[in-house]
Amino acid sequence: MSEPREQIQSSVKALDQLPQSKVIQCSRYYQSKPMGPQDQADYVNAVVALETELSAQNLLTHTQAVEQTHGRVRKAHRWGPRTLDIDILLFGQRVLSTPELTIPHYGMKEREFVLYPLFEIAADLVLPDGESIADLVALCPKNGLSVMEN
Ligand code: AMP
Repeated sequence: MSEPREQIQSSVKALDQLPQSKVIQCSRYYQSKPMGPQDQADYVNAVVALETELSAQNLLTHTQAVEQTHGRVRKAHRWGPRTLDIDILLFGQRVLSTPELTIPHYGMKEREFVLYPLFEIAADLVLPDGESIADLVALCPKNGLSVMEN
């Protein structure tokens, strides 16, 4: 696997190059212990804000293509080592529940590696259910999450 920092940089660039889309913000990179088996390298996460004219479903098709070009083998073993995972956390204030897509993303309110980078780029954000990112962050232990050194 190539370096996580390079993986993220390259996938953010790929997101910026999607049709009718532009990355308008990107958080710093956050390092955390992996979920599931602990004999894996630390995870590295970042959150981007993407301005897009694509539909949510179409965006998912594109993000999955980006995952694939970055070498992810889907569903090989859940929680196992993976090279790149792109989740759609929010899509404006939209609430969606289809077989392919749940928005807001189902785990985002409990995950420190989602909430802290999201808060960094959108401190005033309020979720569709009325909860503020500031309140969610205040309730969420860091669990060893740290900002990656440059
Ligand atoms: P995972 O392997 O945990 O990344 O799950 C991937 C699957 O989650 C994909 O097949 C998607 O159809 C589905 N999915 C549901 N909601 C979302 C979302 N908000 N962002 C990305 N994938 C999603």
